[in-house]
Amino acid sequence: MIAQKNDWEIRARSEQCHGCHAPFGDQETFNSRLLFDAAGYRREDYCERCWPQVPEDAGTLSIWQSVFRLPPPPPPETVKRETAESLLRKLLADEDSPGYANTIYILAVMLERRRILVEKDVQVREDGVKVRIYEYRKSNETFVIPDPELKLAELEEVQEEVVAMLEQGQQAAAS
Ligand SMILES: [Zn+2]
Repeated sequence: MIAQKNDWEIRARSEQCHGCHAPFGDQETFNSRLLFDAAGYRREDYCERCWPQVPEDAGTLSIWQSVFRLPPPPPPETVKRETAESLLRKLLADEDSPGYANTIYILAVMLERRRILVEKDVQVREDGVKVRIYEYRKSNETFVIPDPELKLAELEEVQEEVVAMLEQGQQAAAS
């Protein structure tokens, strides 16, 4: 597979239902679907009342359920340190992210092991690209990460690369 810029995506959770526009409340269960078509990814969030009436869409890639959590207060300013999370967000925002396909995948797996990301679904798109759909627990953001299906030897190599990037911090990630 040749990775494209729009293979990666972070989709924020809505503050309100896509159907009735009622704002979600803290701890409210809601339903989400991820659509994929020529325009890229779209995410729609629905309250429990609207969900049964949502018409089916042929572009649906994934459906999942989450619990809405009010955004936590911003963390106190501390020394800026590169973490697996900040590095992942930076790479996903980078225009050259396809060059980091393996790194991005490994970072997502690391964050899943630490229970920062939760895997919600695995789907194969019509074009054959296998994507893993993760939820960022704190914010319900959706991270769509193509799975490069690495072999074990490649996996070790990329893991070493990622550890080095984290140690070297911002400069290494930007170069
Ligand atoms: Zn609704």
